[in-house]
Amino acid sequence: MLGYPAEEEAAALLIKIDPSVITGYLEDASGFTQGYAERLVIPETESEVAEYLKQASRKKESITIVGGRTGVSAGCIAQGGTLLSMERLDTLNKIELTGEGGWVTLGPAVRLETLISAASQAGLLYGPDPTEKTGTLGGNASTNASGGRSFKYGATREHVLALTAVLSTGEILRLERGRSRTSQDLLKFPLSSGRTLECQRPLLPSLEVTKNAAGYFSVPDMDPIDLLIGMDGTLAVITSLKLKLLRAPAGRFTLAVFFPDMPSAVDCAAIIRNQTKDSAFQTGPASLEFMDQQALDLLRPEFPNIPDISRAVLLMEQEYSPGKQDEALAQWSEFLDQRGVSENMIWYAETEPDVRRLQEFRHALPEAVNRLVRQRNFPKVGTDMAVPEKAFPEMLNIYRRGLESLGLQYLIFGHIGECHLHVNILPRQASEFQAAKDLYLQFAREAVARGGTVSAEHGIGKIKHAFMEIMVGEPGLREMARVKRIFDPAGILNRGNIFPEKYLD
Ligand SMILES: Cc1cc2nc3c(=O)[nH]c(=O)nc-3n(C[C@H](O)[C@H](O)[C@H](O)COP(=O)(O)OP(=O)(O)OC[C@H]3O[C@@H](n4cnc5c(N)ncnc54)[C@H](O)[C@@H]3O)c2cc1C
Repeated sequence: MLGYPAEEEAAALLIKIDPSVITGYLEDASGFTQGYAERLVIPETESEVAEYLKQASRKKESITIVGGRTGVSAGCIAQGGTLLSMERLDTLNKIELTGEGGWVTLGPAVRLETLISAASQAGLLYGPDPTEKTGTLGGNASTNASGGRSFKYGATREHVLALTAVLSTGEILRLERGRSRTSQDLLKFPLSSGRTLECQRPLLPSLEVTKNAAGYFSVPDMDPIDLLIGMDGTLAVITSLKLKLLRAPAGRFTLAVFFPDMPSAVDCAAIIRNQTKDSAFQTGPASLEFMDQQALDLLRPEFPNIPDISRAVLLMEQEYSPGKQDEALAQWSEFLDQRGVSENMIWYAETEPDVRRLQEFRHALPEAVNRLVRQRNFPKVGTDMAVPEKAFPEMLNIYRRGLESLGLQYLIFGHIGECHLHVNILPRQASEFQAAKDLYLQFAREAVARGGTVSAEHGIGKIKHAFMEIMVGEPGLREMARVKRIFDPAGILNRGNIFPEKYLD
């Protein structure tokens, strides 16, 4: 029926058509349940990927690329066609040392936790710190994943030095940062076939945020490699990456600073954000995170030592270079003293067990939310917007006014260093669930009106098209479809990611 060899005859490409095997590949962390696929292909080499894609293009066979399946937007869930699992391209090459740190080349299926561990053994650090460590580096690059330490180190994009990707035509694209040319917004991509693919930079509304995972990257004079990072598998299949590694700090300590009200915490975060930009202030944290009163209240049963009067907390991770620990501590102590923060409102963690306890405190929040959601049997509605710094206090007021006027239960937490907070709305009944979804759309419009993004971290995938449309409008969706058609003329790769499939027809 399919015109493909049975599993045992296709040893090299490992083609599987057994539904019980395929079903296991149709899940990620999004809860999206409408996945289906006719076959699963597991190539072992880049040339096998290229050969398969060439044939698939000819047959217009839809291909969905599968990484670690930890995505939260259903990007890797197929709706028909073939699942292309990258799992066997998992080679981690030897780390090369340089004066400032090092670099490594690896296959896209190498998991983040494997890279972190290898880098650490070499005395190095991989900057991006997405919470989910079982995701793959191919998935991280495709979604431009970011994490707590992105405040200091940026998202995945900043750490990709080079990549190799296979187009749906079977042609191979090798890009090294700083090597490919852009002139007057014309991006040029040299291909293995000798052809140069030319693509006008997508014309999309410009953003003023430090973090974005919604839609294609586009800024004037951009490096062509950056179009491939954050493309959610719509333009090409990443088959190898060269990643930057940094010298690891001598050590780090973590601080949780509690505040009696939310505005004091928000003001303090703004000061830290601005001081970190100022080179005179040596001590800038690697991460700057926030939880509001409702989040703290949810955690109190598990962490009864949360100070009674606290209504908000800032969590910071401070790295230091050799011999500089005391200096870093003294600087924080003076800073917090000046702001009138008393010692009993500070948790300090430096030893392994204390750091672990603080990490548990931070990670306990999503777990507590999930428990509540399971009890109630209504999904949470979780936002992912970031706004420019100047719009941040106003955006926070918009969140609180909207939520309180509807009497919804909610909590707010996240990456305050990048003006990127998650609002989690916890509906108690069907009418609240609908109200929460409507409010989310309203918040997205407000964020976009202020130069913000509808998704700073989680991406659009298949489940947030409405938000993408709010951000770039119909012309923006058409513009991204134009770019996709140049890279993927058969329109077979990760259809339905970022924008609806109708834009490809
Ligand atoms: C508990 C939890 C915490 C999380 N925390 C964070 C966080 O802090 N920050 C964050 O950014 N995300 C976070 N995520 C989301 C997720 O981990 C990231 O989106 C991650 O980058 C996905 O990687 P993956 O390998 O699992 O990719 P998948 O989920 O398999 O795929 C994601 C997308 O990438 C595409 N893709 C995968 N491999 C390739 C490839 N080789 N070439 C081209 N496209 C490819 C897929 O087709 C899909 O569109 C979290 C998820 C969970 C469950």
